Amino acid sequence: MSRSPKFTQQLQPQISGINPYVPGKPISELKRELNLVRVSKLASNENPLGASQKAKTAVQELIIDIASYPDGSAFELKKALASFLAVSDKQVSVGNGSNELLELVARIFAGKGDEIIFSQYAFAVYPISAQVVGATSVCVPALNWGHDLEAMLAAITEKTKVIYIANPNNPTGTLISVSEWEAFISQVPEHIIVVLDEAYFEFVQTGKTVNGLDYLAEYDNLLVSRTFSKAYGLASLRVGYMVGGEELIGYIEKVRMPFNVNQFAQVAAIAALNDPQFVKTVVSNNQAGMAQLTSFCQGLKLSFIPSYGNFVCIQVGPKALEINQALLALGVIVRPVSNYGLDEYLRVSIGSPKENQHFMDALTSILSQNQAGNNANH
Ligand SMILES: *Cc1c(COP(=O)(O)O)cnc(C)c1O
Repeated sequence: MSRSPKFTQQLQPQISGINPYVPGKPISELKRELNLVRVSKLASNENPLGASQKAKTAVQELIIDIASYPDGSAFELKKALASFLAVSDKQVSVGNGSNELLELVARIFAGKGDEIIFSQYAFAVYPISAQVVGATSVCVPALNWGHDLEAMLAAITEKTKVIYIANPNNPTGTLISVSEWEAFISQVPEHIIVVLDEAYFEFVQTGKTVNGLDYLAEYDNLLVSRTFSKAYGLASLRVGYMVGGEELIGYIEKVRMPFNVNQFAQVAAIAALNDPQFVKTVVSNNQAGMAQLTSFCQGLKLSFIPSYGNFVCIQVGPKALEINQALLALGVIVRPVSNYGLDEYLRVSIGSPKENQHFMDALTSILSQNQAGNNANH
């Protein structure tokens, strides 16, 4: 029984307008609902190869210690990251997923009346982070599905505090070029914080590409975030990191909650960093799967947004939500992106070759039935 709300007067006014983040449907839920045996989840950009065996072993060996608090300073993980990234350990902060760190930046630097800039079709966590602190979201129209960095520069006002950029972007998978990025970052006033979210950095296989770390020495206002959730396959453990100048990282360290990253996540992340071969295998599986899915789209004359991540947005047309339901009925979970304003698209994460095939078979059969239905109506 749901009661009528009692606390709306108590609520901070900005909270009621928040559109909560919509996660992909869990496999267990779909299996339960439809009594399905085989389910392929291609909805949350998770790692189809799981995680490094080294990371799993590290977690198993730690079970004995479950009653202890984690290392609150994440000393070993920060040290490992600092050496892996060739920065000082005072330049690294770790979070309960990189999402925690992205949101902390808004809390540290923005409040009521301030503005936070991000792009149309950008990651849903940015508007949520802005709204939680009562800041105004300035959503800049996209250019070819990606960031229009010139327009984002033009959107800067006296009230701008933070700019979020995802590169590659989720859900569209677009990539910023080095020249666009350099023109942008060199023109942002130096008191404005630029957050470069590189959650899909490891998947980018094109020649010359932006690596945010290369710009930290020159730009004190830059923060770069990455995660163990995608290429490393540790999404369940919740661990990501942010790299920047010592001053900005110091503020994040000040406001983060004690013990924000659990010990299983810390040991698994260290072990995962020590298994670069696993990430290589993940990336090549991703390239093969991306080729498999995009040539399938070309075959069916479905357009898609060229993607540099581990997912691709496919334009299935105005019936996207119906098609999504039909895919679910066949045991395939993908992500509708109408909440991002991409009504005709479905975002499909690259899976294992078998999972990709499951999706392609299901979509082919749904589209041919639709086609038959359309012909019958004529
Ligand atoms: C998946 C993703 C993240 C990472 O989130 P975690 O909290 O580290 O799991 C960050 N940014 C974008 C754009 C993402 O898609």
